[in-house]
Amino acid sequence: MGTIVCQTCGATIAHFEDEKVTTLYGKCCGCDCDEAEEEGE
Ligand SMILES: [Zn+2]
Repeated sequence: MGTIVCQTCGATIAHFEDEKVTTLYGKCCGCDCDEAEEEGE
């Protein structure tokens, strides 16, 4: 089984089917949105 982990906060984003144990790094919604939201509140 594979796991996708947020590289910023370390939260587990999702799991996916895989033959071996794999860990991928991405960004969770919170961290991704935080960076995109540069101005305007
Ligand atoms: Zn995150």
